[in-house]
Amino acid sequence: MVTVDKRIRVYPNQKPWMNREVQQLVKERNRAFRAGDRAHYSTARANLKRGIREAKADYRRKIEDHLDSNNSRQVWQGVQHITNYKTNLGAAEDPFKDRALRLMAETPLIDGHNDLPWQMRKQFNNQLNKVDLTSIQTTHTNIPKIKEGRLAAQFWAAYVPCDTQNKDAVRQTLEQIDIIHRMCQKYPESFMFATSSQDIEAAFAQNKTASLIGVEGGHSIDSSLGTLRTMYQLGVRYLTLTHSCNTPWADNWLVDTGSEPPVNNGLSEFGIQVIKEMNRIGMMVDLAHVSEKVMDQVLNQSHAPIIFSHSSAFAVCKHKRNVPDHILRKVKEKKGIVMVNFYNDYVTCSKTANISQVADHFDHIKKVAGPSIIGFGGDYDGVTRVPQGLEDVSKYPDLVAELLRRGWNDSEVTAALGENLLRVFRDVEEVRDALSGEKPDDVPIPYEEVQNSCRTSHGYEPVVSAGTTVSVRPLLLALTILLFCCY
Ligand SMILES: [Zn+2]
Repeated sequence: MVTVDKRIRVYPNQKPWMNREVQQLVKERNRAFRAGDRAHYSTARANLKRGIREAKADYRRKIEDHLDSNNSRQVWQGVQHITNYKTNLGAAEDPFKDRALRLMAETPLIDGHNDLPWQMRKQFNNQLNKVDLTSIQTTHTNIPKIKEGRLAAQFWAAYVPCDTQNKDAVRQTLEQIDIIHRMCQKYPESFMFATSSQDIEAAFAQNKTASLIGVEGGHSIDSSLGTLRTMYQLGVRYLTLTHSCNTPWADNWLVDTGSEPPVNNGLSEFGIQVIKEMNRIGMMVDLAHVSEKVMDQVLNQSHAPIIFSHSSAFAVCKHKRNVPDHILRKVKEKKGIVMVNFYNDYVTCSKTANISQVADHFDHIKKVAGPSIIGFGGDYDGVTRVPQGLEDVSKYPDLVAELLRRGWNDSEVTAALGENLLRVFRDVEEVRDALSGEKPDDVPIPYEEVQNSCRTSHGYEPVVSAGTTVSVRPLLLALTILLFCCY
């Protein structure tokens, strides 16, 4: 601390004009923010702005008093203060952050993918009663961080790992769906369960985070259209066709790295049935994690726009989880969306990354396919490494400020925040409504495509695979020979 005289004290880490009143007003604003009270927040913010203006004017008067002094050392210090004051005047508030917060107050920020439900299983074996989401610190996501990050709508991932495939994937997925429902029931003042584009807007109007469900990985439906439809009934609104493993009907991105052999050379006949059924019932098709061939096939097959719930740009970081330029252009043609993933490994193809390098992905996608296909898909709580400056869900406004700093205009930013996803969602709902006269597809996957020791064959007749059925052809042959011999 430097003391110039009794009236002026400068703390190195504190703005020199800061006084007690401003500190109180900051606290008041933060209280309103934490409470999520938008009306109170905007009044408190206006009061704070006025308080800062007055404190700065007061400070300037004190310095000017100083300059009247005959003591040269004091004059010099006074000049330093004025310089400092002027610097602070410029840096005190980031105008881009201010603009970001203003835009986020008008347009809901919708994020495509968050794995908090998986953290609930991993850390607490889904015992939500033992968790306090208002204070938990072992996750990227908690309620105060959500409020600070202006997270208006979240697709929570109902994810279960690939090693559950053909075992208990369906049960575990149901349990992940259950915990998302329970999160909404336990914190009704913060979360609103949502299943439609309209619900997202309604939650935003009520200052709550719209909570939607996306199932991450086709293995979760166990090659069953009945299971897919039932999950829709439970509120699931997107299905990621694969996680990082092939299903009996779709190949995953590891096929493109050569580390896994293709099973279907893209999408099988049944895979096409899955896409058509998703279009019919109004479930979004998510192409994050699939092979490039599947991306291409689905973009040709789907009647509704598709999403990439958490994928970045391949041209910026050549990782096969990212989206190549020719697919970006096709997504644009199909009016879909690519929601940018923040995982360091997909942002820079290395273990480290920063907020500016994430913005590079936004810039690239905008350059290749325009602002209408971009969204946010942070992948928080699903990854171990996140960029410097985007450490948790409270940091979204900083990324939005970074885009504004790079010259994005207001309408480009609001498109990426939520308008693009809302458009895709509405289109998917329209396709569903247009197909409402069509019958559900009840043709099951061929048994030989899903045959494994954990699966029974009930319903598949005649049984061709259980090894118990004797073919009739040799029997007939023997009988014929016998008859010829007798005559
Ligand atoms: Zn993922």
